[in-house]
Formats: sequence, structure tokens, C-alpha cells
Amino acid sequence: MTYALFSGLDEDILALPFYEEQHRTLAVELAEWCAGHADLWSRPLEQTPEKAGREILSALGSAGWLGFLDPANGSAAGDHRSICLAREILAYADDLADFAFSIQALSATPIVQYGNSEQQLEYLPRMASGETAGSFAISEKEAGSDISAVGLTADLVSDGYLLNGRKAWIANAGIADVHCVIARTGGGPGALGLTAFLVPARTPGVRVLEEVPLIAPRSFGHLAFEDCLVPESSVLGRPGQGFVVATDLLERFRMTVGAAAVGFARRAVDSAVQQARERRIHGGRLMDLQLVKGALADMEVKLNASALLVARAAWELDHGNPGYAKHSSIAKVAATEAAQEIVDAAVQVHGAAGLVADSVPERLYRQVRSLRIYEGASEVQKLIIADALGRRPLVGRSRAASGSSASRVER
Ligand SMILES: Cc1cc2nc3c(=O)[nH]c(=O)nc-3n(C[C@H](O)[C@H](O)[C@H](O)COP(=O)(O)OP(=O)(O)OC[C@H]3O[C@@H](n4cnc5c(N)ncnc54)[C@H](O)[C@@H]3O)c2cc1C
Repeated sequence: MTYALFSGLDEDILALPFYEEQHRTLAVELAEWCAGHADLWSRPLEQTPEKAGREILSALGSAGWLGFLDPANGSAAGDHRSICLAREILAYADDLADFAFSIQALSATPIVQYGNSEQQLEYLPRMASGETAGSFAISEKEAGSDISAVGLTADLVSDGYLLNGRKAWIANAGIADVHCVIARTGGGPGALGLTAFLVPARTPGVRVLEEVPLIAPRSFGHLAFEDCLVPESSVLGRPGQGFVVATDLLERFRMTVGAAAVGFARRAVDSAVQQARERRIHGGRLMDLQLVKGALADMEVKLNASALLVARAAWELDHGNPGYAKHSSIAKVAATEAAQEIVDAAVQVHGAAGLVADSVPERLYRQVRSLRIYEGASEVQKLIIADALGRRPLVGRSRAASGSSASRVER
């Protein structure tokens, strides 16, 4: 499976004041790196997504693209414009590249934000080098959109905490070396009784309950924790702070899901434009048909809007706007919904060729679907946005009043 790579960049958007020189440099260098590593994206069909994901993680780490996950090592902290651009470019190149990068960032960031110096020293250098893979495990069969319903228990015993329960739909379930687990320790009802733990995958009592094959293959599955004893030093942050750890992380990363959607959508637009230019039909080019022009224009409008909303959300977070969470949700819902429409339109432009298994449009069609569900379904994002509107003063708009959604239980 090989395919030509375009750059995945929109240099006009990169030139806008949302971005600084360091972002432009990162984008160009990462796009060049992706173009030079076509072997990583040209996987033999027999290779499992687990093995491929691990290889890509290792390559990303060796090349230094994950260095920002270990700030103590002198690497520049990962601002969110950089993380979003990285996801855009990697998603353009390959679904698993975006997956490897994003899950590693998702699982290391809570350690960067809430870990003590021992935890940071233990995990971050090897996560930044790609040698240690992480997962971030909140969801359960009965606790998806509603984090406050988490039921996996962590009981305080004489020599630590005893974890019992299950986690569902966990990215990297089968390959992670360390799981960041949100568990119920009590001390308060619902969201108040949750605590985050760092649980090495080799801990007795932890096992992969089931590998779950997905529409776009990757390491994914359900985990079981059975009388799994971890020391008190495994608590990430403070006991009772688990809900804050989880929502803070999700608020930061939702915009990056929008960024991945932009990457997939840009690939779809490039592929549709190429097809429309090359395909001969009715004595001319497909591109010359007005309805096709209209479809391509609609795709381009949606792509531009999405890219700008993602850039704005990341800019708000990087500039310390306490109300950035609303923009993160706006970027996610707008870009992921638009990407679904853009990819569908790209399949239409290709006709039957767009439905052939493993063609670019067919792959994008499968790869883009999960983005509207994970890290908060579109409906949940709309509730967060509406809640922020409900808190806004009726006259004028103030930055402080746009508010954070940290009090919501949904994601
Ligand atoms: C590819 C992928 C990767 C994932 N990776 C992880 C991971 O690494 N770690 C992890 O913890 N979880 C992960 N998840 C799980 C994901 O976070 C949940 O699937 C998501 O939160 C939705 O929960 P659910 O599937 O239980 O759906 P439910 O909560 O049952 O919701 C089903 C549907 O109901 C609707 N809905 C939900 N709430 C509302 C509402 N308030 N108002 C209106 N409609 C609503 C939405 O349409 C939603 O899609 C992953 C999921 C996917 C698909």
C-alpha cells in the first residue's frame, strides 16, 4: 500500500498571526519528515496495528517529535499550536501516525501537569523517547460520556490501593506500558470521589480483557483490574482530584481532535481535486462540471473554517484565556463534523474508485468517523458551548465570562 504524499500544509494559514516562526518551522520540518518516512506508512497488510503503532511511536520518539513530553530535558514545552499542527500533519500522512502521537501526548500530559518529580523522572524521559507507551483510561461500559459514573474502585488498604473493575474502549490497551487510570476512591459522590493513578501494565491483576477490532485498525480494547495493588505513590495529583485531572486534559486535547480532523479533511480535498483535474468525462474534465466545482468549493470553505477555528482555540489556550475550553469544544465539533462531510464528498467525487478497499478516500472514510465520538461526542460539545453561552453577560463579551467547563461531568 503506497500513495503519493502532498505536504499537508496550508502555508497561507500558517502565515497568519495566530502562529509564530517556531510553529512554521515545526510544520515544515514535520511535513518533510513525514514525506521522507513513506516506509512507515506503507505497511505490509499482515502487520498488526499494534506492531505498526509501536514502530511509529518509536520512530517519532527517536526523531525527537515527542521531546516536548519531557520538559525537564530542556525540550521546549509543547504549546497547543504545536501539538495541533503536529496532529494535522501526521493525520494527513497516516492515521496511525496521528494515533501514536496523540495517545502518547494524551497519556504523558497529565504526568507533566500533575505528576510529582519522582513520577516525572520515572516516566517522562522514556515516553518522550517513544520507548514507553502510555494509555489514558477513563471510560467504562457504563461510564462513557458521563465521567462522574466511573465505577472502577480503588480502596485504600494497609499497603496502598486495591483496584477492582474494568475500563472500556481504551486506546493503546494492548501495547501501553503504563495506564493512567481514573478510579473511584470515595470521599465524595459522583465526580468528587475520583482519583487518578499511574498503573504499570505489568502490575499483577492488570490484563487486557479483550482486544477490540475497530473500523480503522489500531491498538484498542477493554482492560480488567482484579485485586491490583498499587502503592500510595501511584496517585497522580491528589486523592479526589481525578475528575479535575480528566476534564483538564480533555479540555486541552479536544481542539487537537479538531486538528486531526483538519489533517484528514485536507488529504480528502487534495485527493478530490487531483481526481477532478485528471478524470476525463463528457468530453472534458470532471473539474469542469459546475456541480463538481460547487462540491469542491464547499469542501474548501469547510476546511478553511475548521483550520481557523482550531488555530483560534490553540491560540486562546496558549495565551492563557481562562475561557479556552469553549473554543476547544467549538473547534472539535466544527472540524470533526465538517471533516465527515468533506471526506464523504471526496468519496463522491471519486465515484466507484473511492470505495475500493485501501484507496485514500476509503481509508479516510473509515478513519474520520471516530473523531465525532471520542473525547466527547458532538452533542456533548454542544452542551459545553451552550453552557458557556448561558454564563456570558447579555451585553458585550468578556474573556473572563466565557468560562471554563471544568464543572461539567460530560465530555
Ligand atoms: C477511537 C476511540 C478511542 C477511544 N479512546 C479512549 C481512551 O483512550 N480512553 C478512554 O477513557 N476512552 C476512550 N474512548 C471512549 C470514548 O471516550 C467514549 O466512547 C465516549 O466518551 C462516548 O462514550 P460512549 O461510547 O459510552 O457513548 P455514550 O456515552 O453511551 O453516548 C452515546 C451517544 O449518545 C449521545 N449523547 C451522549 N451524551 C449526550 C448528551 N448529554 N446529550 C445528548 N446526546 C448525548 C451521543 O450521540 C453519543 O455518541 C475511545 C473511543 C473511541 C471511539
